Amino acid sequence: MERGTLAHAYLFVGPEHIGKMTLALELASALNCEQASPPCKLCRVCQRIEEGKHPDVIVIDKNSGRDAKDRKKATEIGIDTIKEMLQRGASLPPYEGRYKVFIIDNAELMSNEASNCLLKTLEEPPQHIVILLLTSEEKALLQTIVSRCQRFELKPVPTGEIEKRLTQVEGLDQGTVKLLARLSGGCLGWALTAVNDTGYLQSREQRLCEFSSLLTKNWDDRLSYIAQLPSDRGGAEQTIKLWLSWCRDVMLLKYNCDDAVTHLDKLNETRTWANMLTVLEIKDFIDSLNKMLVYISFNANLHLLFEVLMLDMPRKERRADYALNSAATDR
Ligand SMILES: [Zn+2]
Repeated sequence: MERGTLAHAYLFVGPEHIGKMTLALELASALNCEQASPPCKLCRVCQRIEEGKHPDVIVIDKNSGRDAKDRKKATEIGIDTIKEMLQRGASLPPYEGRYKVFIIDNAELMSNEASNCLLKTLEEPPQHIVILLLTSEEKALLQTIVSRCQRFELKPVPTGEIEKRLTQVEGLDQGTVKLLARLSGGCLGWALTAVNDTGYLQSREQRLCEFSSLLTKNWDDRLSYIAQLPSDRGGAEQTIKLWLSWCRDVMLLKYNCDDAVTHLDKLNETRTWANMLTVLEIKDFIDSLNKMLVYISFNANLHLLFEVLMLDMPRKERRADYALNSAATDR
């Protein structure tokens, strides 16, 4: 913007909650703010953009243009949405701002038809528009789209930086700061959301306890546990990623890399598991968890996937916390 060499389309690539939408909205504000050093974040234009109420900043995602009842089932951004919201919108001048900014969130969810429709606008973009594509799965985008965008990669923030920022949050003890910084995987936005979500750490704790006790359960118990697992794609993905992070910790502890462990508060218990499980057992289960994540992205049956995982999960005769001699609740 400072050099006056604005592109018509940008692609922001990075993991979820890294700050792609924050950056996109700031750019949209900067393009339309009328103060001396845009974005001022204080003027009416900036504020309305932040509140999602500016008519020239259009956010498109898989829920756009759908009724509330259809939203739950929505898995893609269809051609009608791109035609109606983007193609038609782009042909009209801005209502009140200098630029019309189209932000496509999770752009990888565009159907093939939708992508081709977007491509037409990207090939001959009107002067007054800027298109921002946000994605965490760049490979799922058409190469022809990627090549027409200026690409920016948003990299994970170092754990130390996130700790520093979290330390400024009032009432957060050092243990929680360290734990959240590690759990965030370098995504500051995630960490700041988790600070305000008191239920998050609790449910993580519960899920991890349930998970480690599954390692000693028989097939019947494991299969009936599936009923307690999330039945939606997002929830299932989160659960599997949590299990993966636990397996990663076990692997790290097997090789004495204590500093890199994510679940700091579970260090002792995880270490005992690390002594009980073999590298091969953990590696095979990690492979199987990763495979399930791929199947989930192909919309496979979640119940079936969890059944396979329950069978693939390593099985041990006793619980790590027995070995630890700490308080076992269901003895
Ligand atoms: Zn402003």
